[in-house]
Amino acid sequence: MIGCPVATLSQPSGGESPQQQEATTFRSCPLCGCNNQLAAPLATSLPPWELKECPACQMVYLENALPYQALEESFAWQHQLDQHRIDQQQATPQSYHLRRTWRRWRKQIFRRKQVADWAEQFFPSGKVLDLGCGRGKNLHKLPGSHIPFGIEIGKDAAQQANQDAAQRGGKVWQGDCLSILKRLPEGSFQGVLLQSYLEHEIHPLPVLLEIARVLSYGGGVVIKVPNYDCWSRKIRGQKWCGFRFPDHVNYFTPTTLSEMVQRAGLSQVRFGWVDHLPTSDTMWLAARKMAVSISDQESVNSALESINFSTC
Ligand SMILES: [Zn+2]
Repeated sequence: MIGCPVATLSQPSGGESPQQQEATTFRSCPLCGCNNQLAAPLATSLPPWELKECPACQMVYLENALPYQALEESFAWQHQLDQHRIDQQQATPQSYHLRRTWRRWRKQIFRRKQVADWAEQFFPSGKVLDLGCGRGKNLHKLPGSHIPFGIEIGKDAAQQANQDAAQRGGKVWQGDCLSILKRLPEGSFQGVLLQSYLEHEIHPLPVLLEIARVLSYGGGVVIKVPNYDCWSRKIRGQKWCGFRFPDHVNYFTPTTLSEMVQRAGLSQVRFGWVDHLPTSDTMWLAARKMAVSISDQESVNSALESINFSTC
């Protein structure tokens, strides 16, 4: 078992933008725990944000990341995403529209890669937890056999998602995922969805370890992240749509994503070549907590109902 990444607070040197004025969290390699402070940053870094590739395990990650507190309000990912889309549209309008058209076509061709399809295939009926659920877009897509739960760090988004989830008997908690996961009972959920979430998470391996704990045996996890190995990143360099500073802090390849899932004790059940095509900016992986016993669902339900730490 590897050690957890060491996180310490440091102050960036100088700078005038609001981002530079925020205290940042120093990160060791989130996959193997190596401290790569002395390694040179990658050329695709965008100062003051430093991308590092771990020489020990080849994980690519942002070494100086914003702490959770900054992500709750001033750097909520919805705001960052909206701004990112505007910036891309203004910088290269023709390329932006071509990519959006191609994505729409690809969704039609690979229709299996829809949240509802993956949920039906890999999540047993019951409670499904969406990490970084935003305003609840994915919770809407879950089949009727699933009860939607979520965790969202953005306060406004969490409140909106909670109202929708409550209509189907679910709940959305506001806060950072790791802190809230640690307070949830073991074996609580039959599925966990991480769509466009893990690339934002400062502590991805501890989060996956908690997911393995809160899943019931036989429960599934579905992960979608940008694919750092894609051709678009190699061709476009720093203009690749997957580079988003500072809100993307982990840049997975198929190898490093698979390795992290295994280190969390989850069993990969789907990650074929079609799920991480180099022609796609993203990749999908499904894993499962293998069954050795059946959780006592009545006690789990009772424990979940007694938890009332949501601010929503
Ligand atoms: Zn490493």
